[in-house]
Amino acid sequence: MRYKGYCHCRAIQFEFRSDEITEGLQCNCSICIRKNIIMSKDYILPSQFELISGRENLSIYHWGDKDVNHYFCKTCGIAPFHDATYEPGKYRINLGCVEHIEPRKLDIMEFDGKNAL
Ligand SMILES: [Zn+2]
Repeated sequence: MRYKGYCHCRAIQFEFRSDEITEGLQCNCSICIRKNIIMSKDYILPSQFELISGRENLSIYHWGDKDVNHYFCKTCGIAPFHDATYEPGKYRINLGCVEHIEPRKLDIMEFDGKNAL
């Protein structure tokens, strides 16, 4: 399947290919719980992902061990995807940013990031 996504103000637009998305991942770590984010369960690899626009509008938030690049839009503040500094370009996608997906209606897998990190 081919998916399209964008942040709230649409400055950041991207496309990716993956199997049909039927599941989401919800993590309870200190940042995910604040974002109330539902992410792609699978990582999207660099070969499956294309940033269409908005590279200059992306900012990065680092915290804790700084292992994760929490990208967000400088204009609207939405975080459309993140990757790890040691695996650049291997993204989990914020499914709330993706067209034709209703994240809260997916099968949600819970990840205990609060205790895993
Ligand atoms: Zn934006």
